[in-house]
Amino acid sequence: MDSPFTQTPREKLEAWLRYYNDLNLGEFYKDRRNMGKRTVKPRAAKSVAAPVNVSSAPVSSTAPAPAISVPVLSIVNAPSMFESLDRIEGDTLEVIRENLGECTRCRLQKQRNKIVFGAGNPRAELVFVGEGPGHDEDIQGLPFVGRAGKLLTQMIEAMGLTREDVYICNVVKCRPPENRKPEEDEVATCSPYLFRQLDTIAPKAIVCLGATAAQALLKTQDPISRFRGTWFDFRNTKLMATYHPAYLLRNPAAKAEVWKDLQKVMAHLGLKRKKA
Ligand code: URA
Repeated sequence: MDSPFTQTPREKLEAWLRYYNDLNLGEFYKDRRNMGKRTVKPRAAKSVAAPVNVSSAPVSSTAPAPAISVPVLSIVNAPSMFESLDRIEGDTLEVIRENLGECTRCRLQKQRNKIVFGAGNPRAELVFVGEGPGHDEDIQGLPFVGRAGKLLTQMIEAMGLTREDVYICNVVKCRPPENRKPEEDEVATCSPYLFRQLDTIAPKAIVCLGATAAQALLKTQDPISRFRGTWFDFRNTKLMATYHPAYLLRNPAAKAEVWKDLQKVMAHLGLKRKKA
């Protein structure tokens, strides 16, 4: 076993959790989906020495015990233990950009023109996360400046905001060739920088534009149609996925659904639509 003096805080925590688990002290984890009470089936009894005089009724050591109701700790408004450990104290967008440097960490660097880090208000209450830069973004070094970007600007303005009010960034910072979807390893290499951006800005809401962003942040493979418009917790921030503006350019009928999603975001942020 590693010396406790050379372990990282995360390793120490993991060791403690394994230890408590070995002691059968039960579940530690916050259940973010099921608030309040839930029903669990206790494990079948292990073959241990029979207790003396605990019950007058005979018990089989293998029969499953009846379901019992146990309380679940209510969600506290704070990052989880691991999330706190992952956060970098005093991080800023400038430092993150500097750390990224002229990145050569993945194959996307080969054909990119400019790194597209992100743009907007570093103290934004609302952050939009897209997939990755396209042709126009790669030339200008700015996110969402092409056709899909124009539609995103309209969506932001319909919410009564400007692009300067919000922050806009992508999962990968370099344009994938032929605008293909970023590969899993490219997302894995780039997403720590996105996580740091989101931690630093600490917005009230994150809107994922399209499946790539939503799947990267929520760590799911589910199709976006199954969960768009639903609030999730992402590192203690509310996160919602909606369709990508490029999808809306191809399927204008879906704009109504996206508008419904954005109205939920507006309600959460206390925004009212500006009168024309
Ligand atoms: N599509 C994206 O996902 N991001 C951009 O920056 C532009 C288009």
